[in-house]
Amino acid sequence: MNSRSPFVHANLESVMAVTSRAQVGIVGAGPAGLLLSHLLALRGIDSVVIENRSRAYCEARQRAGLLEAGTRRLLRAVGLGARLDAEGLTHGGIYLQFEGERTTSTSVI
Ligand SMILES: Cc1cc2nc3c(=O)[nH]c(=O)nc-3n(C[C@H](O)[C@H](O)[C@H](O)COP(=O)(O)OP(=O)(O)OC[C@H]3O[C@@H](n4cnc5c(N)ncnc54)[C@H](O)[C@@H]3O)c2cc1C
Repeated sequence: MNSRSPFVHANLESVMAVTSRAQVGIVGAGPAGLLLSHLLALRGIDSVVIENRSRAYCEARQRAGLLEAGTRRLLRAVGLGARLDAEGLTHGGIYLQFEGERTTSTSVI
C-alpha cells in the first residue's frame, strides 16, 4: 500500500496481506467512499478505503459525466474543483417539447 494513499486493493482472488491502522474503514472506492475519505482527512481523521477492483480500473471507469450544482459546490469547497474548473463544460439546460411546442429551457446548473 502507498503510505500516502488510503486506497487498498482487496481483490480476494489475488490474496494480499495488508496491514494498516486507521480510525475509519470505508468499503468501496466509488465517488461516495473516496469523497468521504477526503472529508475525513480534512478533519484530521485517518481512513482506509477497501476496494475489490484495481486502482487503475477505478481511475479509468466512468462515474459521472454530469455533475449537479450541489455536487460542484461541494467539490470546490473541499478543494477538489481544480480539474472540474479546468476541463468541465457548462451544460446550459434541456428543452422539453410537447405536441410540437417547445417549452423554455430547464436549467441543470
Ligand atoms: C456509465 C455511468 C455514467 C454515470 N453518469 C452519471 C452522471 O453523469 N452524473 C451522476 O451524478 N451520476 C452518474 N452515474 C451514477 C454514479 O456513477 C453513481 O451514482 C456513483 O458511482 C455512486 O457512487 P458510490 O460510491 O455510492 O458507488 P459506486 O460508484 O458503485 O462504488 C462502489 C465501489 O465499491 C466497490 N465494492 C463493492 N462491494 C465491495 C466489497 N465487498 N469490497 C470492496 N469493494 C467493494 C465497487 O467495486 C465500487 O468501486 C453514472 C454511472 C455510470 C455507471
